[in-house]
Amino acid sequence: MDIELTAEQEAARGQFRDFVERRLMPYADEYDRQEEMPARLIGEVAELGYLGGLVPEQYGGAGMDSITWGLLCEEIGRGSASLLSLFTVQGMVIQSILKWGNEDQRQDWLPRLATGEIIGGFALTEPNVGSNASSVETSATLIDGHWRLHGQKRWISFGQVSNLFVVFAQSEGKSVALLVERDCPGFSTKPITGMLGFRSAMLADIFLDGCKVPQAHLLGRAGFGFSHVGGAALDQGRYSIAWGCLGLAQGALDASLAYSGQRRQFGKPLKEHQLIQELLADMITQIQAARMLCYRAASLKQRGEPSLIMETSIAKYFASRMAAKVSADAVQIHGANGCSDQYPVQRYLRDAKIMEIIEGSNQMQQIIIAKHGYQEHAVKQQRLAQPKDDGGEA
Ligand SMILES: Cc1cc2nc3c(=O)[nH]c(=O)nc-3n(C[C@H](O)[C@H](O)[C@H](O)COP(=O)(O)OP(=O)(O)OC[C@H]3O[C@@H](n4cnc5c(N)ncnc54)[C@H](O)[C@@H]3O)c2cc1C
Repeated sequence: MDIELTAEQEAARGQFRDFVERRLMPYADEYDRQEEMPARLIGEVAELGYLGGLVPEQYGGAGMDSITWGLLCEEIGRGSASLLSLFTVQGMVIQSILKWGNEDQRQDWLPRLATGEIIGGFALTEPNVGSNASSVETSATLIDGHWRLHGQKRWISFGQVSNLFVVFAQSEGKSVALLVERDCPGFSTKPITGMLGFRSAMLADIFLDGCKVPQAHLLGRAGFGFSHVGGAALDQGRYSIAWGCLGLAQGALDASLAYSGQRRQFGKPLKEHQLIQELLADMITQIQAARMLCYRAASLKQRGEPSLIMETSIAKYFASRMAAKVSADAVQIHGANGCSDQYPVQRYLRDAKIMEIIEGSNQMQQIIIAKHGYQEHAVKQQRLAQPKDDGGEA
C-alpha cells in the first residue's frame, strides 16, 4: 500500500498543523474547563473551509479527498477531541445529504454546510436507545404535508448550537431520517454539562414535542433511515474518529517525550530510565500501527471499495483502544503532574475513553468484526469444498 502523500496533501497538512498549534492547542484546556467551544473559533474553522471540507466543489465546498480529510481530523484531534467531534458530526450530516439527499436537498443545504452558516447535528441516541440504535422510539407521523415528531434525543454533540439535525425516527414501523431545523415549531434543547470527556463539545438533550417538519425534509425514503442514511453517516463518523484518535495519541506522545526529557528522578531525566523507554516505545509502535490502518481505510475510501466499511470499523476500533492506552501511559509518565489540569494529558485520557464509546462502542465493533471474520471463513470453506477443475483431460 502506497502511503506517500502528494505535494498538495503535504501542503494541506502543514496548514492544518500550523492552525492547530497556533489557534487551538494553547487554549484547548481552557475551553475544556469552561465546557464551551467559542463561536469565534467555530467561525474561524468555517472560514478556512475546513469545517465543510467534505462538501464537493460543485456545492461550494473544498471537496477534500479522503486522505486530506483524514489528515485534517488527525491534526484537529491532536488539538482538541471536542472540536474534532464538531468536524465528525458536520461530516456525518454532509455525508447523509450527499449520499441520500435528492438534488433539491443537496442544492439547498450543502453550500451552507460548506461555509459553516449551517452547523450540523446528528440525532440518533435516545434515553432508552443507545447501541441498539435501529429501535429508536421517536415517532414521525405524516399529517397534511408535514411530519410531526414526538420524542427525545440524548447526548447530541454540539446540540447547543447546531442549526440543522439529521433526526432518526419510526414512521408506521419504518425507520426514517429527517432534516430538522432548530427553529422548527416544537423543537427545543437543554445543555448537558459535567461529562468525563469531550467537555467542550456542547452536548445537549433534544426535545421533539410535536415538532413540525416539511414532508420534503425526508432523506432517502421511509425504511431507509437507520440502515441507509444512518449507515452512511456512521461509517463517515468512524472514519473521522479513527483519524482523530491518531492525533490525540500523537499529542499524548509528544507531551510525554517533552516531559520525560525535562523531569529528573534518581539523578537523571525520566527518559534515561528503561521502563519509561519501554512505555514510549510501545506508544510509538501502537500509533504507527493505527496510522497504517487509517491509511488503508483512506485508500479504500478514495477508490470507493466496498471493503472500506469493515476496514473503517477495524481502524476505529484499533485506534480508539490505542488512544486510550497511549493516553493512560502518558499520564503515567507525567506522574501526579499528569493528573493535574495544568497538563493536557489528563484531557487526552478523558477524551480517549469517549472515543471507545461513540460511533458504535468498541463492543459493537467487536461484534461486527468477528461476524465478518466468520463470514470470510465460511466463504473460504465453501471454496475449498468445491470440486477442483484441473483443466486437464481425463
Ligand atoms: C461525548 C458523547 C458524544 C455523543 N454524541 C452523540 C451524537 O452527536 N449523536 C448521537 O446520536 N449520539 C451521541 N452520543 C451517544 C453515543 O452514540 C452512545 O453513547 C453510544 O452509541 C452507546 O450507547 P449508550 O451510551 O446508550 O450505551 P448502551 O447501548 O446502553 O451500552 C452500554 C454498554 O453495554 C455495551 N453493550 C451494549 N450492547 C451490547 C451487546 N449486544 N453486546 C456486548 N456489549 C453491549 C456497550 O458497548 C456499552 O459498553 C454521544 C455520547 C457521548 C458520550
